[in-house]
Amino acid sequence: MGGDTLNPLVVLGATGSIGGQTLDVAARIGVPVVAMASHSASEALHELALAHGDAIVCVADPGEGRDRFEASFGDRVHFGPGAVTEAAALPNTTVVNGVVGAAGLRSSLSALYAGNRLALANKESLVAGGSLMLDALEDGGGELVPVDSEHSAIWQCIVGESRADVARVILTASGGPFRGMTRKELESVTVDQALHHPTWEMGPRITTDSATLMNKAFEVIEAHYLFGLDYGDIDVVIHPESIAHSFVEFSDGVVKAEVGFPDMRRPIQFAITEPNRVDTDHEPFRIAGITMSFEEPDRESFPCLDLGYEAGRIGGTATAVLNAADEVAVDAFLEGKIRFVDIPEVVSTVLGRHDATIPRDVEDVAAADSEARAYAAEECVARS
Ligand code: NDP
Ligand code: MG
Repeated sequence: MGGDTLNPLVVLGATGSIGGQTLDVAARIGVPVVAMASHSASEALHELALAHGDAIVCVADPGEGRDRFEASFGDRVHFGPGAVTEAAALPNTTVVNGVVGAAGLRSSLSALYAGNRLALANKESLVAGGSLMLDALEDGGGELVPVDSEHSAIWQCIVGESRADVARVILTASGGPFRGMTRKELESVTVDQALHHPTWEMGPRITTDSATLMNKAFEVIEAHYLFGLDYGDIDVVIHPESIAHSFVEFSDGVVKAEVGFPDMRRPIQFAITEPNRVDTDHEPFRIAGITMSFEEPDRESFPCLDLGYEAGRIGGTATAVLNAADEVAVDAFLEGKIRFVDIPEVVSTVLGRHDATIPRDVEDVAAADSEARAYAAEECVARS
């Protein structure tokens, strides 16, 4: 199968880690990119827009770069968050959502309501608005497919299986740069250390979330919505080598895994080409000499993991609050205002103050999100 039979792509978050790798995959398999979006009118987006001469270019918050983009790209450039959600609704496209943060939710909903295939890297869409996403999927008749490597692994393990036969999934986590450290030792870790992920190269937010295990907490919630699993049937294991991308245990005790060297272009490509695979040049997987190790997560040093289960079990707006508080706390940590160990403290305090409700629409999620951000900002100031 070649790229000519695949839907063209809308790439949201085109200047990011996922966006850049999506553009690589698109070029490699010959799928056209009809639209791209990012947050700011950066030099990086300008270059991408020049390289993709036909693509619509959306800038959520252009600031002073607006005039330059207009001068360069005329009426193929659009501004404001509404332009990004409109791009996600372009008919008969596959929308790769590589936006970071809850800001990605509206575009995910827009893609699903338009009946598009949504290749979801922006796990915050499911964390913040999981039930709304499932409603949009049903109403719009689109497809929701994962890009996150663990969920792609699960998806690939259950192709051809009956969902009813899935007994349990085990998400793997690298453990991040601070694996093995005590809570006391974590008190003095730096931003530079947190941003040095041992196996994956990603944007700063998810890299920090990988270090706290909040990323894995989000992935537990993501798995709950994507695969309809109870929280008790979603486990996490630390696997520092990041070679087994997750496991599925079936009702008869058989366990499947998807394995390979860490490379996000593989799950991105599968999300675009499924149900088919496209031949690509790749290094053969040489298993001889590879060591794979697995251990229980340290839930005391990394309390974010259990905060995720707690918020997930509460449900409703609690997971939107979990994400919003974490976004604020991670920003404050990256700006040097709070310590690494303050991140779970801030999130836990904000979560504890929230009375969760079932969101009726995206505005309910937005309200819970902004309330949580305000509380989290106060908590960060109190700790700085
Ligand atoms: P990056 O920080 O590298 O990139 C984020 C992208 O989002 C940038 O293009 C940024 O634009 C854009 N963006 C931010 N806010 C908006 C907005 N309001 N509207 C439009 N675009 C916006 O992040 P990653 O690529 O690492 O991660 C993206 C998502 O994918 C996250 O949800 C992450 O959890 C998930 N993910 C990432 C993986 C990875 O390997 N990187 C693996 C699995 C999941 P600008 O450049 O202008 O700021
Ligand atoms: Mg992942």
